[in-house]
Amino acid sequence: MNNSIIDRYQQVQERIKQACIKYNRQPGSVALLAVSKTKPIEDIKALTKVGHTQFGENYVQECMDKIEQLPQLEWHFIGPIQSNKTKHIAANLSWVHSVDRLKIAQRLNDQRPEGLAPLNILLEVNISGEESKAGFKAVDVEQTALEIAQMPNLKLRGLMAIPQKAQNFEQQCQPFAAMQTLLNELNQKHPTWQLDTLSMGMSADLEAAIKEGATIVRIGTDIFGARDYS
Ligand SMILES: *Cc1c(COP(=O)(O)O)cnc(C)c1O
Repeated sequence: MNNSIIDRYQQVQERIKQACIKYNRQPGSVALLAVSKTKPIEDIKALTKVGHTQFGENYVQECMDKIEQLPQLEWHFIGPIQSNKTKHIAANLSWVHSVDRLKIAQRLNDQRPEGLAPLNILLEVNISGEESKAGFKAVDVEQTALEIAQMPNLKLRGLMAIPQKAQNFEQQCQPFAAMQTLLNELNQKHPTWQLDTLSMGMSADLEAAIKEGATIVRIGTDIFGARDYS
């Protein structure tokens, strides 16, 4: 079991490496976030044996349990955030990819304990404009970023998206390209922000995301196997 996780992890790292070569991305410019939601702590420990340290989780309670057992790892919160759960996130995480309302950012800022480094923040963008999906409209991102720039306990690093499912590679690329354009526009208008992070690409579309400028890909299934929600 653990051997197969390591094998699959190495295959994903190889896909990232090949995509970087193919699309002229600097080697090492794309980080792999291992998305371990619903998976047991043993699966995470297996990956730490080969030196992996960055893990993403979606559910607050599950995430806190895992952090308690493996506090030395770098934990990223990537799931939906209810405002009554922000305190745990502010106190225990290094990164939050799924900030989708200003109120959440404000609470994370207010609740970040003194003495910790600023919490790294990504704004989630509803880039495909889906009615049912979380995230800011692209046109609202700049105003929100202006407000977050005033919050001392947060460090705005960039943007995150989960685009609509696409039928082919070209369709996969379109929303990712729009994300890169949005990030570039923000950096041109506000050079001091130095936004350096685009979190996009999952198991099914990591190559398209890397082509269009992803700096973090979030991979669950292709490392840990299918998730069982029963
Ligand atoms: C579950 C999840 C992933 C991982 O998706 P896979 O298709 O299993 O690789 C990535 N990002 C977010 C936000 C997720 O919720």
